[in-house]
Amino acid sequence: MSSNLDPELRRAVAERVRYYNELGIYDFYRRERSGAAASVTVAGVEVRDSQAESGEEMSPRKVTAVAMPAAIEDNIFHVMAPKPEQGVSDRAKALKIIREDLGDCTRCALHKQGRKQIVFGVGNPKAELLFVGEGPGADEDEQGEPFVGRSGQLLTNMIKAMGLSREQVYIANIVKCRPPGNRAPEREESETCSPFLMRQIAAIKPKVVVALGAVAAKTLLAMSASMVQLRGRFYNFRPAGVRSPDWDGCKLAVTYHPAFLLRDPRQKGEAWKDLQMVMRELGLKAPKATT
Ligand code: SF4
Repeated sequence: MSSNLDPELRRAVAERVRYYNELGIYDFYRRERSGAAASVTVAGVEVRDSQAESGEEMSPRKVTAVAMPAAIEDNIFHVMAPKPEQGVSDRAKALKIIREDLGDCTRCALHKQGRKQIVFGVGNPKAELLFVGEGPGADEDEQGEPFVGRSGQLLTNMIKAMGLSREQVYIANIVKCRPPGNRAPEREESETCSPFLMRQIAAIKPKVVVALGAVAAKTLLAMSASMVQLRGRFYNFRPAGVRSPDWDGCKLAVTYHPAFLLRDPRQKGEAWKDLQMVMRELGLKAPKATT
């Protein structure tokens, strides 16, 4: 997406694309304009926008013109443009391409607020389980790896309790640069950075994504709710704005952020319930305790 896109417009475009993605529509083709009217052809379906908004079921084989505001039409192609890693089956290579595309990123304000380095993500490119946190802290900024401080130690222990190692999973954050003072990322920062995370998830094609904390959950699910409402169930998840013809998305679960668990250890039991739900989905058994 164009980096100087108006934030409100960026939000509108992202929401519109997410809406079409949820309907199973991923291909957008530009049509010639007649007069001032803007129209976009969406591969496979022919409905007017009003029909789509009404939630009517659509046949995937019809041809469709979806009318949308001209400004959105002009920018939706930035969102839906084929990504350079698309079609690259080697997941490590795809991640490398995404990292190169990110470059020495200055797309949001966090690039000039004291970051030492971009914290891209770490782990197995073929991971079945992928954890998403909020953003790097001081230790992560220093070492260039997510979840390496005290919270990271706790996350590592949580992963071990599931019968896995850090090397078997993938770990990333909503934003890749440290927010100053460990504050939560601003909405615009999350929306600017998260498309790269979405591409990472689509490249890795995990079976389950675990959102650690409310910021990660709300950004990935594009919904606002309390942790009590968000936890305890699986969501069907497909990364917004990314097309993966050979991957139909995955399950997403929400649990507490390890930093929160360090502040309130009484909630560890609740987090363990969330992880056990994930383990059942992945067919994992907790390792036997050694004496
Ligand atoms: S947080 Fe993300 S979008 Fe913002 S500067 Fe860092 S890498 Fe770029």
